[in-house]
Amino acid sequence: MYVDELVKNAKYIATPGKGILAADESTGTIGKRLSSINVDNIEANRQALRELLFTSPNALQYLSGVILFEETLYQNASDGNPFVQLLQKNDNGIHNILRLIPGIKVDKGVVELAGTNGETTTQGFDSLGARCQQYYKAGARFAKWRAVLKIGPNEPSELSIQQNAQGLARYAIICQENGLVPIVEPEILTDGSHDIAKNAAVTETVLAAVYKALNDQHVLLEGTLLKPNMVTPGSDSPKVAAEVIAEHTVRTLRRTVPAAVPGVVFLSGGQSEEEATLNLNAMNKLEVLKPWTLSFSFGRALQSSTLKTWAGKKENVAKAQEGFLARCKANSEATLGNYAGGSGDELASESLFVKSYKY
Ligand code: 13P
Repeated sequence: MYVDELVKNAKYIATPGKGILAADESTGTIGKRLSSINVDNIEANRQALRELLFTSPNALQYLSGVILFEETLYQNASDGNPFVQLLQKNDNGIHNILRLIPGIKVDKGVVELAGTNGETTTQGFDSLGARCQQYYKAGARFAKWRAVLKIGPNEPSELSIQQNAQGLARYAIICQENGLVPIVEPEILTDGSHDIAKNAAVTETVLAAVYKALNDQHVLLEGTLLKPNMVTPGSDSPKVAAEVIAEHTVRTLRRTVPAAVPGVVFLSGGQSEEEATLNLNAMNKLEVLKPWTLSFSFGRALQSSTLKTWAGKKENVAKAQEGFLARCKANSEATLGNYAGGSGDELASESLFVKSYKY
């Protein structure tokens, strides 16, 4: 029923030069962000932060979508207008021309898989179809569901690979039945001392399992997006050049992601803002056939320095928005392989890595 719309929206979100702002931190996660700048986790402060981002002058032209948490989907900006309307109109005020599509996080976090070494599966299937219908009514046109895998001596286990692949596929088809483009996110955490070759091998196995499951569950690939980790060495290993990350990541994707998928929108996974942008840029500069758009769906790597500059103070809003604009523009350029580097101040180069990151 929604086939044409799903295909059109997925393709639009994957427009080269644009990407996604992941602003869908749950109330618990945003609380950690706010406490890092000594700001209370109350609704007014969560609203103020989201308003700062969504009203950033000139920034939204570099975005095709914003992922929201449920609270924000139904929240108003301080002028009384719904955030969703503000996004759909965007800061140029040209409705539906420079369109920005609202999305919604639909998973309910992870739980441990019994008998494993702390591996997890994602929950949120209860009433998922009904929730998707409500979110569609509220203006959402795409969704996100984060599956988390880890690399260890015996991880990811076959159980974790299969459970997470099946879960992502089940989520994806429920979204599509209700008009939402599913972002399929199998995140392999960077925690560990493994090298980049190990990450490449694990990512390849996981993505192959995910696409087998999507196919088995009759998901329309043209109406989906993939949100993977970049292929990097583990957090306790020496760093490698952006070109090396680009080669490993693109090779892994070429081996596993069907050409029918319109876009791959990476998570930033604890990389610094500048690292994430440079890695994305290096991928787009690679001269090999890439049948999908390679873009961004960053949370931390788009918001981190903005958050610190803001520090919860009204008088810092304009300065914080300038920083946000710089990051959005830099990442937009990186989707075209045109980023020259050096955007932002020293805050942009700070590592954002957190062990066993929970979203
Ligand atoms: P990071 O870019 O902060 O890794 O988060 C993106 C995201 O949406 C994770 O689910």
